[in-house]
Amino acid sequence: MEMMGLCTICGKPGAMYTCRTCGRLVCGEHFNIQYGVCTICLKGKKI
Ligand SMILES: [Zn+2]
Ligand SMILES: [Zn+2]
Repeated sequence: MEMMGLCTICGKPGAMYTCRTCGRLVCGEHFNIQYGVCTICLKGKKI
């Protein structure tokens, strides 16, 4: 059974979120649902 994809940050399978800023596919651990961005973009921005 195929997973949704690999998290581009941690490399673990099960990534199901797409960052609306960079388009990265990331897992729940590396996605900020509140802002809809990955943790990398979250760090890069002053939110
Ligand atoms: Zn991850
Ligand atoms: Zn991002």
